[in-house]
Amino acid sequence: MKRKILIEPDPILRKKCEPLEKVDDEVRKLMKEMLEIMYEAPGIGLAAVQIGILKRVVVIDLSKENEKKNPLFFINPKIVHRSDNKSIYEEGCLSLPGQFAEIERPAECTLNYIDFFGKEKELKAEGLLATCIQHEVDHLDGVLFIDYLSKLKKDMIIKKLVKHKKEIERIVV
Ligand code: ZN
Repeated sequence: MKRKILIEPDPILRKKCEPLEKVDDEVRKLMKEMLEIMYEAPGIGLAAVQIGILKRVVVIDLSKENEKKNPLFFINPKIVHRSDNKSIYEEGCLSLPGQFAEIERPAECTLNYIDFFGKEKELKAEGLLATCIQHEVDHLDGVLFIDYLSKLKKDMIIKKLVKHKKEIERIVV
């Protein structure tokens, strides 16, 4: 059975994820499954918690539709440096379908993580990748991009999502 992407408000999305002890075939299988779900959605990043697995695992692929796929795998990602200069992207999220908002974040960040093969790595990221990494690492700590908005805007978005969830249930019944 294929796992579904959890939609806000879902209490699981607000939980803090646990680091992985080791990278084995089971983890690699999970990451491949996450990639499939992300490509199908489609999205450019997915954290394991978004499919209900409370582990610090993230997949990202920024390749364009007509380009070769370029999956990136991050296990236990930790942002060790954030630049003072900021950039703004209009962000969306697979757990907040149809919702977008301009979010300001550090324009560059440095990340320590473990890769697909279990190797420790460091990555300096900028532009879209830096924003995407920060968005995904937030997920691992139960943070969504709407948390950066005013309470009014955030409540409005959650209200819309609740309404949308109810509509989906009605169709199923
Ligand atoms: Zn997201």
